Amino acid sequence: MATTHKTRMLIVGSGPAGLTAAIYGARAGMAPIVVQGLQPGGQLTITTDVENYPGFRDVIQGPWLVQEMQAQAEHVGTRMIWDTITDISLDGSPFRATGDSGDIYEGVCLVIATGAQAGWLGVPGEAELGGKGVSACATCDGFFYRGRKVVVIGGGNTAVEEALYLTNHAREVVLIHRRDTLRAERILQDRLFAHPRISVLWNKAVRHFVGDNGLTAVALVDTLTGEAHEVATDGAFVAIGHAPATELFRGKLDLDEAGYIIVEPGTPKTAIPGVFACGDVMDHIYRQAVTAAGTGCMAALDAERFLAEREFASTRQAAE
Ligand code: FAD
Ligand code: NAP
Repeated sequence: MATTHKTRMLIVGSGPAGLTAAIYGARAGMAPIVVQGLQPGGQLTITTDVENYPGFRDVIQGPWLVQEMQAQAEHVGTRMIWDTITDISLDGSPFRATGDSGDIYEGVCLVIATGAQAGWLGVPGEAELGGKGVSACATCDGFFYRGRKVVVIGGGNTAVEEALYLTNHAREVVLIHRRDTLRAERILQDRLFAHPRISVLWNKAVRHFVGDNGLTAVALVDTLTGEAHEVATDGAFVAIGHAPATELFRGKLDLDEAGYIIVEPGTPKTAIPGVFACGDVMDHIYRQAVTAAGTGCMAALDAERFLAEREFASTRQAAE
């Protein structure tokens, strides 16, 4: 039988943003419920080495980091529920969400932390060599390619920025694009073409990633001639766009053209009082575990203020 779960703070998503909001929310006495979704722990569960999350001198494992975050959230009083939200009403507080299980979740305030997913090519070898040479995040993994050769796949701003960033570490960077013009902004293109250690392979599509225990090459096909060849490489960065998990909120919240939730600049506040968005679902620029955690903290602090103001107003009304 379907159950209705009521809470002062409903959090949708269990990556670093949702779990940090939960830690702060629980410690502020908001007894949060976190609905975990199909990927409990979020994107860090599909990576291995994490070396840029502060507090750890040695390399740590992504899945371990989010397990610790979850344990901390539960320790201070968060209730984790394994369900996926399939429908949500944002017509005023309490906000009401329906889970795939049929259960209903009601939150006086709502924190959206549904994250984003990196786009993948879906070609053979990509999943198998993920974390063994194939990556979707230069900021996260570029450091591991010091003095090596890497390729970047894509032609938008992200691909060009990743290629430029990778020159801080790699000795050679090759951008591989399926067409003969880039989509990236002109100023980024100018920086790319001017860089002595970056070259571009035009009109090339990746057919598969080559390697057994680690990436050794990318197998390419020319999109105009059909000619196939391999390019040897130590690392490949797929940068073909990210998809924020915002389908649920389409038509209910303001989204930008790429589908990210629009918040009041510098805050996690959406246009609906009591609804906050944090982490990758509202941030197409930084997309890091620590920034997701940071905005999760901000969402909980703002949620706490929202609840305090609301509860103060209703107490005063009752007294009058
Ligand atoms: P996510 O981690 O994307 O979590 C989203 C959560 O929302 C998930 O729990 C999902 O199940 C849930 N969800 C989605 N839809 C629903 C729904 N309808 N109902 C309920 N729940 C839902 N960052 C670093 O700082 N360092 C690194 O080394 C690093 N390495 C990375 C390696 C890889 C391979 C990838 C993909 C990312 C990496 N990142 C790294 C980026 C980092 O993982 C993200 O920036 C961070 O996880 C974003 O956190 P988030 O909480 O906003 O969202
Ligand atoms: P994007 O602009 O959608 O570009 C994706 C690129 O990947 C395109 O060049 C596309 O090729 C290519 N691509 C897509 N699917 C592919 C496939 N299956 N195989 C091979 N190539 C594929 O994505 P983005 O670069 O991540 O940018 C997303 C949004 O964030 C944009 O609005 C962008 O302006 C913004 N952004 C801004 C900044 C900044 O302002 N500094 C930085 C990063 C991102 P085609 O060109 O052929 O379609």
